[in-house]
Amino acid sequence: MREKRLFCVVPCYNEEEVLPETSSRLKRKVNELIQQGLVSQDSRIVFVNDGSKDATWSIISRLHEEDEIFQGINLSRNRGHQNALLAGLMTVKSICDMAISLDADLQDDIDAIDEMVKKYHEGIDVVYGVRSSRQTDTFFKKATAEGFYKLMNAMGANTVYNHADYRLMSKRALEGLAQFGEVNLFLRGIVPMIGYPTDVVYYERAERFAGESKYPLKKMLAFATEGITSLSTQPIKMITGLGFFIFFVSIAVLIYCLVRYFNDQTIPGWTTTVLSVWAIGGLIMISLGIIGEYIGKIYLETKSRPRYIIESYLKDDKDNVDLVDHIN
Ligand code: UDP
Ligand code: MG
Repeated sequence: MREKRLFCVVPCYNEEEVLPETSSRLKRKVNELIQQGLVSQDSRIVFVNDGSKDATWSIISRLHEEDEIFQGINLSRNRGHQNALLAGLMTVKSICDMAISLDADLQDDIDAIDEMVKKYHEGIDVVYGVRSSRQTDTFFKKATAEGFYKLMNAMGANTVYNHADYRLMSKRALEGLAQFGEVNLFLRGIVPMIGYPTDVVYYERAERFAGESKYPLKKMLAFATEGITSLSTQPIKMITGLGFFIFFVSIAVLIYCLVRYFNDQTIPGWTTTVLSVWAIGGLIMISLGIIGEYIGKIYLETKSRPRYIIESYLKDDKDNVDLVDHIN
């Protein structure tokens, strides 16, 4: 049996503080796997520099020079976590047998990699890393993150609960992913749509050991909106439902008014009139806003812009890869 080549894909945005530690821990892990014969000798760790403003890229370049186990992909500018991850995965898909995506801060326990790789050998194509608890997160982070998953599912964007982007994907799952030509990319929602055998590995989430979170509340809310509007049309259905509800209420109000009118009980209803104008106005604006979100998405999708542009790839000489994002 030919040995299977593993690529660990790590998006990095201003991660100079964590990279030295992350790279040595990951190297140890991959070497262990190589020794156990679970992955091939030429397995690699790829850091994707997402337009960092600090020394991240020079650290990656140095790592690559010192040890060929490290590779680097330099994006032309900051494109966000999801696009950086996609750039890495799509670049290595033709030369790997499996790829594991994980964050640079190693909050996701790398010891789960062993089990992921074992599951791959059992024939599983997508192995999700799922956090079994969030004890190390602050109360605020925990509450907002859990609210995020609940909101996503309630809105029709089905995601794996407590799974971030720590997962193993086989080559054919990556090829499946490549066929999703969406510009508004939300990997957590798209990967389950690929299909193939899937499984879950549980791990404890650790604390970020250096640097700070690049996902403040504002980014997280933007991420949730992105996820919902790019995956589901549930909000539109909810608006339709609300429209029907208000329609029936207004019929009831109309009957009520007619009864009062014919009984000569009409009152100068200034307050109610003004209030209802505001209420309806507000509802219309909310609806228009949500519909606008979707129209904005359609606008962007029709352009088929590339989701990332790679400036350079520090790779093995023997590997031939395509660096262009062939969207569709
Ligand atoms: N990241 C990125 N581009 C960005 C923001 C973040 O590539 O614009 C990377 C970051 O370097 C890290 C991962 O995405 O490897 C997750 O970010 P972070 O740990 O800050 O998120 P959190 O764990 O707090 O949700
Ligand atoms: Mg993190």
